[in-house]
Amino acid sequence: MITLLLALATAPVQTPRPTLVVVITVDQLRPDYLVRYRGQLSGGLARLLERGAVFERAYQDHAITETAVGHATLLAGRHPARHGIIRNDAGVQDSTSPLLNAAAGSAIGGASPFRFRGTVLMDWLKVRDLRSRALSLSIKDRGAILPMGRTREQVYWYAGGELTTSTYYAAVLPEWVQQFNARNLPARAAGRAWDLLLAPAAYGEPDSVPWERAGRDNVFGHRLPQDAAGARSGFPATPFGDEYLLAFALEGVQRIGLGRGPVPDLLALSLSSTDYIGHRFGPDSREIHDQVLRLDRAIGAFLDSLYRLRDSTRILVALTADHGVTAIPERTVAMGGGPAERVADAFAWRMDSALAARLGPADDGRPWVEIDNGLVTMQGRALAARGVRPDSLADVWLREARARPAVLRVDTRRTLAAADTARDPIARRWRHLLPPDVEFAVAITLRPGSVWAAPIAAMHGSPHDADAAVPLILMGPGVRAGRYAGRVGVVDLAPTLARLLDVPPLEPLDGRVLTEASRPTGH
Ligand SMILES: [Zn+2]
Repeated sequence: MITLLLALATAPVQTPRPTLVVVITVDQLRPDYLVRYRGQLSGGLARLLERGAVFERAYQDHAITETAVGHATLLAGRHPARHGIIRNDAGVQDSTSPLLNAAAGSAIGGASPFRFRGTVLMDWLKVRDLRSRALSLSIKDRGAILPMGRTREQVYWYAGGELTTSTYYAAVLPEWVQQFNARNLPARAAGRAWDLLLAPAAYGEPDSVPWERAGRDNVFGHRLPQDAAGARSGFPATPFGDEYLLAFALEGVQRIGLGRGPVPDLLALSLSSTDYIGHRFGPDSREIHDQVLRLDRAIGAFLDSLYRLRDSTRILVALTADHGVTAIPERTVAMGGGPAERVADAFAWRMDSALAARLGPADDGRPWVEIDNGLVTMQGRALAARGVRPDSLADVWLREARARPAVLRVDTRRTLAAADTARDPIARRWRHLLPPDVEFAVAITLRPGSVWAAPIAAMHGSPHDADAAVPLILMGPGVRAGRYAGRVGVVDLAPTLARLLDVPPLEPLDGRVLTEASRPTGH
């Protein structure tokens, strides 16, 4: 008897093998929102915080903290320097892969992952068992496409008022997607109001703030335009955008039979409304507060429905973000938070014009010099072939940028290579961003709080913690719930999911398995 009891006590805990992995990426979700609004969370975010492994210091540990870059990193387990997606403007745009809804496609252009290098979790699953399938959804093309790497799975995003995909993935939209589109939910939301979820006293933030949305339509209740076209375009910038995408996800799970086993399937959801709302109203607004509460309820209702459809003990859930956001500079100044500026980057345009006047256009029609989020790229070899030394351009930039008070530092390939990345997170994040074949003159980092000029209230894209810190939570079979205070990266997500799914990655990764929060699943 005693022997039997001992045997029972020492038998390894058999955890069921997951049959569905749900990766929820909330576009622009700052981790401090989960702390700030904790007492008012009662839905999916609350459930994840209570029952999940919560990593309190997680980062998208690269510079140019934009949507494409963060989503490409999500399930690659590798930094942008190796997956090759280093900015939105060189993300998924591909005119050779038009969208399937012609009306939207001609206006918006095509999209595919052709710039993405290497493999992702979905490739690893497919190599082990071809029956593994994925559904990846977002309001944004880059949010749906890049978590899947180059795999040709079911990938849909919102364009022109409906969900679509590109010819990279399919020749025609499946019937279930067409039927969902036929419900015409965005157009039918014309005139719908977005009011506060809770009583006004539950919100500490002032509502009417001049720097929110340039002072227009910046108080509750917000209302979608009365006409169908206006409703379709305004829809993603309301909490209804997330509810719509989650409804579509549940429809997809049922119609394509995702997560039934025996092999694991993948459901990747990128929820974009927080980003649209955050850009307009900023991270300290009543609007973002209400959006996070509604996101919490929407994810909760989604998980409840999913757990009715599939065995919850075999569903692994991950929640993270592609980036955070910097406070509105005008607010920072008004609150006494020090100097915070919007910095114009017209100098790049002037330098490019001067070069074009002297040398003529570059052979490939692209600019000689470009700046994007502080990264000054140039056609170095082509310039050298025409007698312009790339180093001389870098020197001009060093002088120009250092003369500006809002500039914290200016790096070159040489200074980044020499930096101590353990002690210098800014250098580390630029190094994690830049593939060896990207030709750049300098990488300019603004002081925390300042942003590159853009016609929108709040911005992200910097290598500072406001933009780089993200939530990272895992919940489900094989996950040890608890709070973890060590610094981790979003690059650790893919190797950790791979371990929980017992599937080997197909290439060396930058991330590590978060062994502190996981135990192997049973066989
Ligand atoms: Zn954004």
